[in-house]
Amino acid sequence: MEKLDRSILPPRRTSLNVIPARMDTTVTPDSPITALNGVGTQRAVLFEKLGVQTIRDLLLIAPRRFEDRRQVISIAELNEKGQTAMVRGRVVEMGTRYSSNRTRSQFLLVVDDGTARLHCSWWNAPFIEKRFARGQDLFIYGKVRTTKPRSIDHPDTTILEPEEDPRMSQRLVPVYPLTEGLKQYMIRSVAWQAVELCGYLLIAPHPELPRAGLPSLPEAIRWLHFPDDPNQPEIARQRLALDELIEMQIKMQVRRCNLEAQARAIPCPGTHEFVRPFLSGLPFELTEAQTNVLREIRQALNDPVPMRRLLQGDVGSGKTLVAACTALMVMESGFSTLLMAPTEILANQHYEIFKRWFEPLGLPVHLQTGGQKTLGAERPPSKPKPTLVIGTHALVSDKFKLEKVGLVIIDEQHKFGVAQREELLRKGFYPHLLVMTATPIPRTLGLTLYGDLDISLIDQLPPGRRQIKTFLRSPDKLPQVWEFVRKELAQDRQAYIVYPRVDEDQDGTAKAVVLELESLQRVFHPYRVGILHGRLSSSEKEAVMRDFQVKRVHVLLATPLIEVGIDMPNASVMVIENAEMFGLAQLHQLRGRIGRGTNASYCILITDARQAVTLSRLELFTKTTDGFKIAEADLQIRGPGELLGQQQSGLPEFKFADLQKDLELIKLARTLAIAKVRGHAQSIQSKNQP
Ligand code: ADP
Ligand code: MG
Repeated sequence: MEKLDRSILPPRRTSLNVIPARMDTTVTPDSPITALNGVGTQRAVLFEKLGVQTIRDLLLIAPRRFEDRRQVISIAELNEKGQTAMVRGRVVEMGTRYSSNRTRSQFLLVVDDGTARLHCSWWNAPFIEKRFARGQDLFIYGKVRTTKPRSIDHPDTTILEPEEDPRMSQRLVPVYPLTEGLKQYMIRSVAWQAVELCGYLLIAPHPELPRAGLPSLPEAIRWLHFPDDPNQPEIARQRLALDELIEMQIKMQVRRCNLEAQARAIPCPGTHEFVRPFLSGLPFELTEAQTNVLREIRQALNDPVPMRRLLQGDVGSGKTLVAACTALMVMESGFSTLLMAPTEILANQHYEIFKRWFEPLGLPVHLQTGGQKTLGAERPPSKPKPTLVIGTHALVSDKFKLEKVGLVIIDEQHKFGVAQREELLRKGFYPHLLVMTATPIPRTLGLTLYGDLDISLIDQLPPGRRQIKTFLRSPDKLPQVWEFVRKELAQDRQAYIVYPRVDEDQDGTAKAVVLELESLQRVFHPYRVGILHGRLSSSEKEAVMRDFQVKRVHVLLATPLIEVGIDMPNASVMVIENAEMFGLAQLHQLRGRIGRGTNASYCILITDARQAVTLSRLELFTKTTDGFKIAEADLQIRGPGELLGQQQSGLPEFKFADLQKDLELIKLARTLAIAKVRGHAQSIQSKNQP
């Protein structure tokens, strides 16, 4: 095998074959993996399945775990009952014994290490026999049962392949993710060479930045693969994570710095011409938090640098209103606004609300989605009026153009990627940017997704909100639940009933909205039941939303489509079926659809889940309405991808950084990146000064 591999190496290498690998100075981290002994083109294909093409790729693969082969003692030293130890020996005998009625069995394995023999027994586990063979070299770990003869029951065993590098004994040995055809000993020996030959050649990104007491990169690489103590791999991971985070944060800060260097902000001092009548026309006062945030925004709109701001606030905290005031400030100064939402429904709803708010002020509002375009293709008037255009990602399309864009607002940014954000910004000449998130996001994610933005936080809900009461019920309680919903309907309230799916799934585990329609129409008769899901055309969706809004429909059956920002203050009950299928952040978002008026509101989660983790997750949800707490719990339980929605979470992929636990590293990386990029910018500026 090894011979065969060598023959297909490039000729240059064959001539070097006599020279030990470590003297081959032509091998670099960027060399293909075939430059290492024992990897020919065939194995290279297997390595590629692990994502490894170059030596660097291999160096950056983290072992899944380690086998501790350090404390091997001789079998003769096993002379205390209850002693726990590791020994190494060769299989000299093996066999299975059965009890007379063959209901019980004992598999006995005898190993010898030259000092003594050890009897290993497995009771009633006949299948174990297949793992072993005479002559095998074994590591055996377990607790001594008897000392005469020496015996251990059900020990942990590792079979040493005859090909295993002898350096892999007496140490912590890495166990790598595997792919078919590659054995641990092969990867180990190749990894060992890679670390020896190239570990020290790796260069960290931005090597001049301090790494907070973490080991150097070559050292981290060695600790990652061949640690001397069990803590080293985690410290190495942190070091490599920090490098990843520094790279990412520097990109963000550079983007931000470029903006500041190139872009002169569109000045939007505002005249209060629109904002003042708008606010005095509202049936309520702004909350203190809203007022503070608007003050921050007004200031930012007057900065010499275009605003780049994230607006965070819990569900129902009134972000839309803040967005509206921001748009008005910009429009007062003669510029237009683009508002992008992730779905047509939400775009439509924003369109309705903003039309109601803006048209009395004489400001045109338009809709631009895949389904609907209210903005004509005719040439705009020579002196364009400040306009608000609301849309979906259709706004990003090349065909759509608008003059004098002064502000871009993105609702639910995490559903869009950074690329889309940048594209939309290109519709204007460095317009101001306001990004809103629908649900609070944990800090680690915030700093990773939005590290280049300033943050404004609405940390207060409008007054008079009744707490939402949340309950957890099993499906056999549904008759009582429907009875409760009917009582609410009788008091002129409305209800949402949410299902995870549109259609029945194959195994029938999740209830489907279309299947439930008929039976619920019967249950709620004479109240009217409407249905909303992603399969409907946009006009159908709009029709049902309008019916719900004007109370022609009393109960809305829906998929999680309604999750995003739908606002119907009269709805006071929400029933969520198969609640176990939703993430906490998503449940929070759903629940945020009720409790928007002044009525007491109720959220009822239906689940037949029995697992303790699922139930405790849902129970936690019934006990808190704090979106930040819920998001943090969801991050810990389900991880960042799930929390943000997998498709376009916009999260960079990390090999080492862990958004569930690396908050301190993320903060450090950001601080370092800011220092580096700002310091750099300052030195350029001072050089350019006369
Ligand atoms: P979100 O932050 O989830 O986007 P919205 O902007 O949709 O919240 O606001 C939720 C509801 O609260 C809306 O009906 C809105 O009109 C209302 N609202 C917003 N600000 C206030 C306020 N200061 N006082 C009372 N109600 C408010
Ligand atoms: Mg909203």
